[in-house]
Amino acid sequence: MDAYDHPTFQMACQQFDFVADHLQMPESERPRLKYPKRAMIVSLPINCEDGSTKVYTGFRVQHHLTLGPTKGGLRFHPEVTLGEVAALAMWMSWKCALTGLPYGGAKGGIACDPHRMSPREVERLTRRYTQEMIPFIGPQIDVMAPDMGTNEQVMAWIMDSYSMHMGYSVPSIVTGKPLSLGGSLGRREATGRGVAHLVARAADTIGLKLKNATVAVQGYGNVGAVSAQTLAGFGAKIIAVSDVSGGVYNARGLNLGKLAEHLEKHRMVKGFSEGEPISNEQVLLTPCDVLVPAAMERQITGANAGRIRCRILAEGANGPTTPEADAILSQREDIFVLPDILCNAGGVVVSYFEWVQDLQSFFWGEKEVMEKLHHILDEAYDRVLGNSRAQKISMRTAALCVGIQRVREAKAIRGLFP
Ligand code: NAD
Repeated sequence: MDAYDHPTFQMACQQFDFVADHLQMPESERPRLKYPKRAMIVSLPINCEDGSTKVYTGFRVQHHLTLGPTKGGLRFHPEVTLGEVAALAMWMSWKCALTGLPYGGAKGGIACDPHRMSPREVERLTRRYTQEMIPFIGPQIDVMAPDMGTNEQVMAWIMDSYSMHMGYSVPSIVTGKPLSLGGSLGRREATGRGVAHLVARAADTIGLKLKNATVAVQGYGNVGAVSAQTLAGFGAKIIAVSDVSGGVYNARGLNLGKLAEHLEKHRMVKGFSEGEPISNEQVLLTPCDVLVPAAMERQITGANAGRIRCRILAEGANGPTTPEADAILSQREDIFVLPDILCNAGGVVVSYFEWVQDLQSFFWGEKEVMEKLHHILDEAYDRVLGNSRAQKISMRTAALCVGIQRVREAKAIRGLFP
């Protein structure tokens, strides 16, 4: 499938083939599971503040529709491509299946830099994208959510644009919405809290005490910041964080309250005076107990995997670790890996809760949301750890096996139409 050619898509395919080999899956069965069901590329012209008209490119990939509607985030980032979105959609499929959600995977993106656009331009772009996607989305077809560069406001514009088209309010068209539009309590924090919950499970598994444990976070956005804050609440010390502007390090622990004030004012980690400046690469190499990559794909590679010094690698980001790095990590008994499709699944699980609440117009309290989230994450963790130990395979292979097998079984039992 040359259309998806991109290093991140090749990486997702390599992971799939590794697991398919482990499952002794015949070659003839693989393409149907691996390649996306549908992909859309759209041109998005908008009027800019300076009076010019600029055309952006938008993408949406729906990986499989076997178990229900597709579900997945929408990313605004200058380097978004069809291949990257296809890889992220494939991982969403395995993540939803691993956690038992009635969804296939999807992902979307617009190649743009929202930080260099005015709010009005971002709004126009979002609304135009939604309009172009109308034939392909719907509460029973494909449901979007926030990802890198998008937030509750963007989801609100999607909900409004779709509802205006339908002629009535359709909150279930997106998740990660503001509470006032039918969002769920706990959704904004769900991914980071889920990461922290699973780090606590992993710490128990390897006998690590989280009180005073040291944590480094690459990518201090929604997922990274909430992971850090929740882990700090468990008594851990956050010693290094970064964002696209660079990072800061403080061996005594960063004051997250002051960091939040700095971010409020300056919108970037760089320049935070209560720590030494360090690079993004240095954050990954910081000796610590828990390392949370929560930014882009392919950050931990064959070149740096041997030099990472943590006890738990908690993948908040999607696809932060390449297969070359995986091969190195699987030889290192000092690092316990919480693979992305397990580690950051809290977001899609609470998105599912939000969708269910919207469809029923019946809303839950935050305690109920968090209890249900922890129950699903605990079950997935126990199953993955059990498989990993029983079959002597890595946590990533174990997690992918569960996800891929569930989709494979569903496809087999439904048969091939017509
Ligand atoms: P976000 O936009 O809120 O934050 C991303 C952060 O990463 C920002 O601080 C940004 O400055 C930083 N960043 C971007 N490029 C970087 C680089 N090259 N090096 C270092 N930092 C960089 O996005 P988010 O929603 O927190 O998503 C982060 C990751 O988590 C993505 O991989 C996303 O797919 C994944 N994820 C998000 C959710 C969710 O619910 N938002 C759920 C599951 C997985």
